[in-house]
Amino acid sequence: MRIDLHCHSTASDGTDTPAELVRNAARAGLDVVALTDHDTTRGHAEAIAALPEGLTLVPGAELSCRTDGVSMHLLAYLFDPEEPALLAERELVRDDRVPRARAMVARLNELGVPVAWEQVERIAAGGSVGRPHIASALVELGVVPTVGDAFTPEWLADGGRAYVPKHETDPFEAIRLVKNAGGVTVFAHPAAVKRGRTVPEATTAKLAEAGLDGIEVDHMDHDPATRTRLRDLAGEVGLLATGSSDYHGSRKTVALGANTTDPEVYGEIIRRATGAFPVPGTGGS
Ligand code: AMP
Ligand code: ZN
Ligand code: FE
Ligand code: FE
Repeated sequence: MRIDLHCHSTASDGTDTPAELVRNAARAGLDVVALTDHDTTRGHAEAIAALPEGLTLVPGAELSCRTDGVSMHLLAYLFDPEEPALLAERELVRDDRVPRARAMVARLNELGVPVAWEQVERIAAGGSVGRPHIASALVELGVVPTVGDAFTPEWLADGGRAYVPKHETDPFEAIRLVKNAGGVTVFAHPAAVKRGRTVPEATTAKLAEAGLDGIEVDHMDHDPATRTRLRDLAGEVGLLATGSSDYHGSRKTVALGANTTDPEVYGEIIRRATGAFPVPGTGGS
C-alpha cells in the first residue's frame, strides 16, 4: 500500500486540477491519496467524480494556523465538511487571503514591480489564493527565475519586503474545531526551517495534550537527522508519525508519493475519524 496524505490542487496553490491530481496519483502507483488544499475543501467533489478504480481519496484540508507569532500548518482529515463552526473558520481564513494578496501586490508595486492583481487572479483561477500564485506572477514578469526564488526576504518570505500576514487560526482552537467535526489532525512539516520560524517542541507537546493526532515526519523539508528527532518526539508524546509529498504539481519539484505513510498509521487515522469516510474509486469519468 502506497499512501500519500498531503497534496494540493488548483483549489489552492497546486497546478493539477483535482481530476488531474487523482489521475496522476493512480499513475504514480498510489493506493491512497489525500487532497489537502489550503483552507478549502472545494476540490473534493471534482476529485471524487474523477477517482480512478483502485485509488482511495481521503478528503482533507491544510489549515493555516499561528501560535506565539509563528505560522504553522495543520492537516485535517475526514472531518464533516458541512459542520458549521469549522466551515465558518475555513471560509474566514480563505476569504481573508484575497485582501491580503491584494496588499502584497500593492507592496510589490511600491517596490517597482509592475504586477497587477488581475494577473494574480488569473493565475489563482478561483483557487484559495496564496503567495505561490504571486510567486508565479513574479516568474512571468522575469523578476525571479523560479517560484522558490520568490520566497526570500527580498520578496515574499515571512517578514520579507512584500510579505503581508493573513488571518490564521490558533492551532489549539483549530484542533478543537476539527475534532468537533469528527476529523483527525496532523501537524504538517513541523520542522521546515527554510520556510521561516518553526514551533518549539514544547508547543508540539502541548498540542498533543490538546488532542493533536500526529506529526508529518517524512517530508521533503526535513533532513534525515530532523526526521529521526521528530520520530523520537512522536514516540515520547504519543503522536502518530506520517509521511507525504506535499505535491503542488509544477509549482514545486516534488513528485507524488515522494514520501508515504505507513499503512498501520493510516489505519489508525481512519479508525479515529468519525466525520467522513475515505472514498474508494469506482472508475470516475
Ligand atoms: P501562503 O499560504 O499564501 O502564506 O503561502 C504559503 C505557501 O507557500 C506554502 O504552503 C508553500 O506551498 C509555499 N512556500 C512556502 N515557503 C516556500 C519556499 N521557501 N519555497 C517554495 N514555496 C514555499
Ligand atoms: Zn501550498
Ligand atoms: Fe504546508
Ligand atoms: Fe501543503
